[in-house]
Amino acid sequence: MIKKVLTTCPYCGVGCGFYLDVRDGQIIGVIPSRANSVSKGYLCVKGWHAHEPIQHPDRLKKPLIKKNGTFKEASWENALDYVADRLKSIKERYGPDSLAVCASARCTNEENFLMMKFARAVLGTNNVDHCARTCHSATVAGLNQSFGSGASTNSYDELIHMDCIFIIGSNPTEAHPIVGWRVRTAIDNGAKIIVCDPRRILLAENASIYIQQYPGTDIALINAMINYIIREDIHDKDFIKNRTESFDALKEIVKDYTPESVKDITGVEPSLIKKAARLYAMSKRSCIMYSLGMTEHIVGTDNVMAMANLAMVTGHVGREFSGIYPMRGQNNVQGACDMGALPNVYSGYQPVTDEEARKKFERAWGVNLPAKGGLTLTDMMFKAIEGSLKCFYIIGEDQLRTDPDTHMIERALASLEFLVVQEIFLSETAKKADVVLPGASFAEKEGTFTCAERRFQRVRRAIEPLSGKTDGNIISELSRRLGYQMEQDPKKVCDEMAGLTPMYAGVSFERLEENGLQWPVLTKGHPGTPVVHLGKFKRGLGKFVPIKHKPPAEVPDKEYPFILSTGRILFHYNTGTMTRRVANLSREYPHNFVQINPIDAGNLNIKNRQKVRVKTRRGELVISAEVTDKIKKGVLWMPFHFSDEPTNVLTNSAFDPVCRIGEYKACAAHIEKI
Ligand code: SF4
Repeated sequence: MIKKVLTTCPYCGVGCGFYLDVRDGQIIGVIPSRANSVSKGYLCVKGWHAHEPIQHPDRLKKPLIKKNGTFKEASWENALDYVADRLKSIKERYGPDSLAVCASARCTNEENFLMMKFARAVLGTNNVDHCARTCHSATVAGLNQSFGSGASTNSYDELIHMDCIFIIGSNPTEAHPIVGWRVRTAIDNGAKIIVCDPRRILLAENASIYIQQYPGTDIALINAMINYIIREDIHDKDFIKNRTESFDALKEIVKDYTPESVKDITGVEPSLIKKAARLYAMSKRSCIMYSLGMTEHIVGTDNVMAMANLAMVTGHVGREFSGIYPMRGQNNVQGACDMGALPNVYSGYQPVTDEEARKKFERAWGVNLPAKGGLTLTDMMFKAIEGSLKCFYIIGEDQLRTDPDTHMIERALASLEFLVVQEIFLSETAKKADVVLPGASFAEKEGTFTCAERRFQRVRRAIEPLSGKTDGNIISELSRRLGYQMEQDPKKVCDEMAGLTPMYAGVSFERLEENGLQWPVLTKGHPGTPVVHLGKFKRGLGKFVPIKHKPPAEVPDKEYPFILSTGRILFHYNTGTMTRRVANLSREYPHNFVQINPIDAGNLNIKNRQKVRVKTRRGELVISAEVTDKIKKGVLWMPFHFSDEPTNVLTNSAFDPVCRIGEYKACAAHIEKI
């Protein structure tokens, strides 16, 4: 007999719903849920294959302890005792801030809540962060400054009713396919699409306007749009007067960014910028969709605030059928942020420096909590190299493949006194660990994920954890060994979180059974919030922040004459630890590649599929060339899913000074045929 378990996709941040088919303890397939309000019976190719890596023979099932450079299997008792002893000893010798925890956007909300509680209440440090640092920390910081809340303003379902969708630095049909499907439906319904991307992505074929700007020039482009909108007097004066502040400061800054004057910076014809500005401003229902193409820059936070400026100047935010959609990369990166797996806030973005908030958590948890903000993931790496960070407990992340400048990350991990990695496969980061604790996949646990439209959704257990423990079990068992008892039942953890977090006060497993709830959910009877900032921004008035263009940290020169950018492809996910173990997905794209424009390829005598060497100031890789006119002349593009041909040996760890995100999307590079 087949048991059907309704759950949520473990891949991208769209949050599709499906059933896992289970027969005799084996997960044998995936069936989309037609009732799920996110996916409505559809899935992308990754979702259809989501069951395959779960019981893959490579899954880690036993803890591993490294002795003389070799891993030896250990019992749970021995491994957890050993880890607890080492954490305790490091804390005693160097103090709590010598330890850090990397929480996980792959784990449930409840597990992320436990991880941040573990760091704060058990280890005594605010050194807790997760991969949002390298993807959407700029969104949290930027939208928070502009609107008072750093998440998507509107819901997926509104997309199909839009008149204009402005897509910048995002490739929805490959990276977020079920949202991409909604964009296509909007086009069928008559919507006009503006695509701005250095790569001619699939949706560019259906766009009314396609703008191929140089990587790292988005502020100049957006400021020029705002300049033109104001000059043409098509800005929304009522909205600006009643709902915003600091418009004069914006006006002053953008006067230097005419569509003509930014042509050399962006490489875009002024007429295209004007057309795009007019279409976005004049359409009744306009929204902006963006992703890592905007955030992963040294000006990531500024990019986000520039988009917020554009939305506010036209009045396309703070109401239904408008707004800004930051498309989240990982299944629960929204939730991990919401749960306070960040160095400066508890769950619901309550600052650790706010005494009232801190006292509330101290009363609930019965411990004193650190009052000073902790280290970001970016700074943890620097501090490890410097020697003040001694121990890193990483859960469900593969920093050695996801973070920019792999060689620098290698140095950081090698500098630690003790590295614990909790993982489902032996990732490259796990190989460097002193202890590997086998975690559980999404199919082995109860809990919730929160998708990019702020929707809490249930995750349900289809099979028992292969290692015998969920990630939540492991954290709470470590905690007990360190002298602190933690609740580990996910339902009760959810209740604890809701009780401490006004924004999610109405969230409970019972209420999420049907189709989840979009936060804020302020009381047990609150219906959730599909559109935020209605009538009033969270911060009161929306704030125009004047932003100036700043070039990427590295610009092309004689030695490195290209701009290298990176991104995702449809068939793989993140570092490929799961999708590259799915035969059908791996067959489509088994290897890494670099895209190069035919003119550049011709100049360098590079043929399609020929092996080339790509070099930056940090490293080099030998991979195949894909000669394509999808990419702008002077630009190279690579995906980052291949741990054996790791793109991030090339990328730049220069970072945004506000949110500390690395500049994955633009660095100077050299390419040569071999
Ligand atoms: Fe999963 Fe994202 Fe594909 Fe939906 S669009 S099935 S959430 S990978």
